[in-house]
Amino acid sequence: MGKVIAIANQKGGVGKTTTAVNLAASMAATKRKVLLIDLDPQGNATMGSGIDKYAVHASAYELLVDEKPFHEVVVKETAGGYHLIAANSDVTAAEVRLMNVFARELRLRNALKEARLHYDFIFIDCPPSLNMLTVNAMAAADSVLVPMQCEYYALEGLTALMDTINQLTSVVNADLKIEGILRTMYDPRNRLANDVSEQLKQHFGDKVYRAVIPRNVRLAEAPSFGTPVMYYDKGSTGAKAYLALAGEILRRADKKTVKTSISA
Ligand code: ADP
Ligand code: MG
Repeated sequence: MGKVIAIANQKGGVGKTTTAVNLAASMAATKRKVLLIDLDPQGNATMGSGIDKYAVHASAYELLVDEKPFHEVVVKETAGGYHLIAANSDVTAAEVRLMNVFARELRLRNALKEARLHYDFIFIDCPPSLNMLTVNAMAAADSVLVPMQCEYYALEGLTALMDTINQLTSVVNADLKIEGILRTMYDPRNRLANDVSEQLKQHFGDKVYRAVIPRNVRLAEAPSFGTPVMYYDKGSTGAKAYLALAGEILRRADKKTVKTSISA
């Protein structure tokens, strides 16, 4: 059974999409079967995977609103070696259309019942707001990965996000866990970033990934070539950082399996 991880932060521009695309590619490079679901109507994760969002035969809209079967909606050839559920501006309409639907929060969760059997990891790139699409992602996920920049007020924003996640999910998904907190666009020469990073570790302990994503221009350039950074510049610090993150997530998952099997 695959693990479903929502990549979320209500703030825009913190590196959600960059993380979704590059973590999916890094995981796929370790021979895991990976699905990436783009839930942001901007379709940046779709374009960054080398898929033209204007030309796709189906998107998350068909999955959520029309309840088309998963295998009819999935795109199997991407630049990152993973499968994709695409997004484009149609997905904005999905948000509106779902408003009047019964059990509207559970559409994605239901759609993924079949998909979970086929993948080791399913990553969901969330939009930068806490709308019905994000609630669908939270309801469908096992855990949330929160990318964040170490800036002033970051800690406050994070605490607010955690509260909101708890409120949102207490009804639809009481089992949702925090997968981890990822420091993005990190500049070790910046003193404020270092201070905030220390505070993060104090507050959230080992929920903060050891892997840190540096500010790296290659990460910003790769999407315009429609590819994850590891197939654009595999020696870049950005490519290495996302591979390290994938390794860390796999090691954590292994540890948990061992723990449960001992206690069982
Ligand atoms: P979000 O999905 O949270 O809105 P994005 O992943 O789209 O954030 O990132 C916002 C912008 O910052 C994009 O232009 C992206 O290319 C750039 N970016 C993201 N991470 C990095 C990084 N580590 N180094 C340099 N630029 C980055
Ligand atoms: Mg995004």
